[in-house]
This record gives sequence, structure tokens and C-alpha cells, in this order.
Amino acid sequence: MKTKSKTKAVMRAADARLPTSVGEFRIVGYESLNTNHELVALVKGKPKRNHATLVSIHAQCFTGDVFGSLKCDCGTRLRAAIETIEREGAGVVLYQQPTAHQTNVNYQIEVHDPMSTSADLRLRYQQCAEILDDLGVSRVRLLSADPHERQILEQIGLKVAAAPATVSPERSWQCQQGMTPVDVMAMG
Ligand SMILES: [Zn+2]
Repeated sequence: MKTKSKTKAVMRAADARLPTSVGEFRIVGYESLNTNHELVALVKGKPKRNHATLVSIHAQCFTGDVFGSLKCDCGTRLRAAIETIEREGAGVVLYQQPTAHQTNVNYQIEVHDPMSTSADLRLRYQQCAEILDDLGVSRVRLLSADPHERQILEQIGLKVAAAPATVSPERSWQCQQGMTPVDVMAMG
């Protein structure tokens, strides 16, 4: 897979075996070369270049992921993605920390715009594409029914196959539960 950007956006920093209650995984840490945040890939099995690999892109939601908050469904979706990949026997969960920029209101609006050319948004997906390439993934089946996410990944150069029929719409990058008291109050 050749991504369209010539500038490298991430660097692999750590790689280890990770046994979990769901199954045996490999955890690979990456550092962003453009921002000060880190990214993690949870990898099951060995991706094959000629096979469309199951991929879930997850934006960190501290209260949902760690404490199982019911104010959003982030933790539930993350767990479901890991379990689906475990059943499949191969796949990748890309887990990203939000940057400070992604907590602002304009960014929250941009993620809904399929024509958005936000440099920050494109960088996020560029990083995902580079990590997938580093892991040997060139064709993906997204565990997400979000057409925007699919469109951006295809623009970057990834081949995106149809999502599994059972997936529900993903809300990548959008949940900021726990980030601001206003958001939490709005969810009531
Ligand atoms: Zn959440």
C-alpha cells in the first residue's frame, strides 16, 4: 500500500505480546511525529497483504473505555470490536488519544463534514494508514458503517472493502465524554 503523503507521520516505539481476558493479542505502540500524542495498535493474528483485514478505529474515551460509563457507548463498542476480531482470528484495533485541538467545537463540527479538508482530521487518518501499512495491512474491512471514515481512508490510498453486515454506525473522534463538564451535562 502506498499512501499519498510523502511525509512520515508516525514511528513505531514499542511492541509486545498482550494476553487479555478476550484472547491473545500483540500490542504495538506508535509515536506521532507531528503532535505529542501516542497511538496504539491491538493486533490479532498476522495480517495478509492480499486479504481484507478487519480494522476498528477508536478514539480514546477515558470514562467510557476505562470505567464503562453509560453516558456514551464507547467502551461497549471497543469491547465489541476486540471480541469480533478475536472471533475472526485476525484484525487490528487502532486506538488514538485525542489531541487538544480535537476537544474544540470546530473540530467536532468538522468530523461531520464529508468534504472537510481539516489538516488535523486528515493527519489522524494518515497516521492510521501508516500504522496499517507498517503492520502489513493494505486492504481493510472497517468495523464501522461511517461513510465519512471510509471516504477519507480511500482518499489517503487504502483499499476499503464493505463493512461486515452486523456493524453499527461508528462515531469516531466524536465522543469527548469526560473532557468537558458541558458535554457531560448535555448528555444528561
Ligand atoms: Zn465515549
